[in-house]
Amino acid sequence: MSNVRAQLLETIRGAYPEDFEGLDPSRTLGENVFGGPKPHPNAVLNLFVRQDVTWALPMAYYMVARRGVDSLMDSRLSPSATLSGNTLRCATRGLMALREMELKETHRIVFTPKDATNRVGCSSTQCPSKHPKGASDAEVVGAHQRTFDRITGSTVGATRILQVLRASEFAEDAGSKFCQVCVEKIQVAHAEVRRKAWAVLPEVFGLRA
Ligand SMILES: [Zn+2]
Repeated sequence: MSNVRAQLLETIRGAYPEDFEGLDPSRTLGENVFGGPKPHPNAVLNLFVRQDVTWALPMAYYMVARRGVDSLMDSRLSPSATLSGNTLRCATRGLMALREMELKETHRIVFTPKDATNRVGCSSTQCPSKHPKGASDAEVVGAHQRTFDRITGSTVGATRILQVLRASEFAEDAGSKFCQVCVEKIQVAHAEVRRKAWAVLPEVFGLRA
């Protein structure tokens, strides 16, 4: 039995990484690693809590929380995917902390006052960072706001803070209009936010005494 358990744990190790470097988006992460009908992330979390797979808990909690409050508290779920009082409380608190961090940090990296230093390298006279001549304040703020909305996602009460920012978040049809240099600056800053978020997972989900 202990061999079977060890083998199973080895299979999931890559999907529930213990460190930030393991959080490789090209990898199969979370419940996607399980074959057959994909289990609900709540069921995976329940299993890990019961089996005391402590190293996998930060990621398992994140996979539960990222889908938002409706998924956390879905009353139609099977008993195996229904979270107990304590697990639900930890998951909800963590979700709220991560969402708050996501909104605050994204606001900072998108709306930071575009002073002289920030504008260095900006490669387009039409870039909202530069407040292009002829553009109204509303247009400039709107371009920032649309980028902010794309990064933080539209699902109410959910989070995507650990997701890598793709170029599509800044596509023309997304109304971003930021130049390539400024897009890259935002991506670099966002990668740092991901790292910060990862580091606080054990704390926000109450896994650290
Ligand atoms: Zn720019």
